[in-house]
Amino acid sequence: PAATMDEVVALCKRRGLIFPASEIYGGIANTYDYGHYGVLLKRNVSDAWWKAMIQERDDIVALDSAIIQHPKTWEASGHLSGFSDPLVQCLGKCKKRWRLDHLQEAAVENGEDPAAVKCPQCGGDLTEPRAFNLMFETNIGPVQDESSTVYLRPETAQGIFLDFKQTLSYARKKPPFGIAQIGKSFRNEITPGNFIFRTLEFEQMEMEFFVPPEEAEQWYEYWCQERLNWYVKLGINPERLRLRPHEADELSFYSSGTSDVEYLYPIGWSELEGVANRGNYDLTQHAEHSRQKLEWKDPQTGKGYLPHVIEPAAGLGRTMLALLCEAYDEDEIGGEKRTVLRLHPSMAPIKVAVLPLLRKDGHPEKAREIYEALRKRMSTEYDDGGNIGKRYRRQDEIGTPYGITVDHQTFEDDTVTLRDRDSLSQERVPVAGLADLLEAKINA
Ligand code: ATP
Repeated sequence: PAATMDEVVALCKRRGLIFPASEIYGGIANTYDYGHYGVLLKRNVSDAWWKAMIQERDDIVALDSAIIQHPKTWEASGHLSGFSDPLVQCLGKCKKRWRLDHLQEAAVENGEDPAAVKCPQCGGDLTEPRAFNLMFETNIGPVQDESSTVYLRPETAQGIFLDFKQTLSYARKKPPFGIAQIGKSFRNEITPGNFIFRTLEFEQMEMEFFVPPEEAEQWYEYWCQERLNWYVKLGINPERLRLRPHEADELSFYSSGTSDVEYLYPIGWSELEGVANRGNYDLTQHAEHSRQKLEWKDPQTGKGYLPHVIEPAAGLGRTMLALLCEAYDEDEIGGEKRTVLRLHPSMAPIKVAVLPLLRKDGHPEKAREIYEALRKRMSTEYDDGGNIGKRYRRQDEIGTPYGITVDHQTFEDDTVTLRDRDSLSQERVPVAGLADLLEAKINA
């Protein structure tokens, strides 16, 4: 598929998956709300991550740490001094502010000279860059002074490091083991556009994997492959996925290796997730700033050491955007254009729609009966509004893989038609065992 971003944005708005936040007030830059089907899709993505990280393993434990942490956290992590990007302002008509690194990345992507970037809005010259911290600040209590300043976390990872010792005390784990969490992070992003690719608030799915130092390289390689494979399992074509190792000049000073999992979005190859070998930087910093021992002590040898850390850090919104771009397709049915989201059935917000052919002759009652049985097992929708073709079009646009229709024959032999979103095949199947049949297809 070669969907454009505009097509995906329009579909998301039309069907209520994702739309601009605060729209009645004219919206707010880089901020979006997720409607019914968007919420369901988002949950499917985060559930799949949780399943891969927690449910199907016994070497990773769960955490849900606070968004507002002690301000020393960000001193120790380096975010207070280092988490700033060069900002430039347009000297021309529009006076817009931009992040220089984003302008330069776009220039490289378009084959232009990154040293000669201009304002993308009005073509004006730009000011000299100055540092700009990406963390949102707020205050605890009524007095706004330095002692009350706190920050909204710009990543979930630091909460994991703060709770490393606490987790060791109860989790009965030893390196190699991981701590995983999903939660909101906040960054004062000023580069506009590209839909939910870069937003002010976003959900991260992060895991810190603590390993004996000599095993770090091997686990880094392991997690790069695991994470790449995960996206393939969600239905992304491996041809539009790649692992891009960072060049030496891109690496954080503490990282001995970082690879981005990238997807070929309509805006070009861009980061879905970063997998980093962070060494023992974070634990060292927090040990120093908190004056606590954050070592793992081997009960057998009595020897302690600071584990090294491999971090796969993924974005929930970026994963959703990749799935939507990947799934968007247009074809023709009976000479009419059809828009369809070819989402993997496991990701589809609604798995099956139950539709009575007619609004009489007992069809609605029978269809509701089937619907009420199915919805106990999977996300199901009942729809009796409008002609059957229209109802299917609607389900196609939200990516529903299966449609069940109740018609007059249902009352003769207790069968329904089962329609497949992609092949458009319609087969008659018995009502008995419908949920098992659908579940088998969804999990195939
Ligand atoms: P970029 O430079 O592309 O904005 P980053 O390299 O700063 O991102 P990381 O700090 O590595 O991002 O964060 C890990 C993941 O969190 C990213 O791969 C991305 O999926 C997600 N992420 C980071 N910033 C944002 C944002 N502003 N909006 C949406 N997702 C984000």
